[in-house]
Amino acid sequence: MRIVVKIGTSTLAHPSGHLNIRRVEELCKVMSDIKNAGHELILVSSGAIGMGVGKLGLRQKPADIPTKQAAAAVGQCELMYFYDKIFGEYRHTVAQLLITGDDTRSEKRHTNFTNTLNRLLELGALPILNENDTVATEEIVIGDNDTLAAIVAQSIHADLLILLSDIDGLYTADPHTHPDARLVTRVTRLDQELYALAGVSAGHQGTGGMRTKLRAAEICMDCGCAMVIANGNNPANLYRILDGESVGTIFTRED
Ligand code: GLU
Repeated sequence: MRIVVKIGTSTLAHPSGHLNIRRVEELCKVMSDIKNAGHELILVSSGAIGMGVGKLGLRQKPADIPTKQAAAAVGQCELMYFYDKIFGEYRHTVAQLLITGDDTRSEKRHTNFTNTLNRLLELGALPILNENDTVATEEIVIGDNDTLAAIVAQSIHADLLILLSDIDGLYTADPHTHPDARLVTRVTRLDQELYALAGVSAGHQGTGGMRTKLRAAEICMDCGCAMVIANGNNPANLYRILDGESVGTIFTRED
């Protein structure tokens, strides 16, 4: 299977902006094993801005663009350093691809990065993508990595996109404020009712919320790629998803 995994900032980093070492080591170990089993893996990783905030010792996530971009420049380096180190321990070669909305909208640039991704997979490397936050301003931004991950999944004809988040999946209400909220385990059609459920917003570290995840689901369902929202706090969820267990919320077209 060709699988795209997206990891959000709140899964990767502590609220301090420093790496959650235990979590990331476990995730990289599980992904390495999945790759060893013969699956093709692509990782879309957030965390550049969050980790930059931690490394620069800023008190909070910056609101102004130049500081955000500076934090991303520092944090992206830090992220790739860790990925290279940890995946390297399991003998996997990582590759960094940073793209912007322009690269997805221009046919030529889209073809270019898709070709690069396909070649990296043929070479057995593990492509790791993020938005190029240091240059992405309002006009050219994709804006969130849920959408980026779905665009990537669509471009390379992935079989499955897994969005690892700090929540178990899509709920019938905000589980933080409604203890009776139920997890929606399977979605085969995206309608207004479902969008109404997605009012839950992002935590203070990440960018997307449930809305961007539903937008990602739309892109995936349109091209026949299955999508799962699962909790990244438990990396072993990845094994369970591949074993066909019901984990989080799965979005598939009704056939
Ligand atoms: N590209 C952003 C970062 O690396 C994250 C965007 C997102 O989480 O959706 O910090």
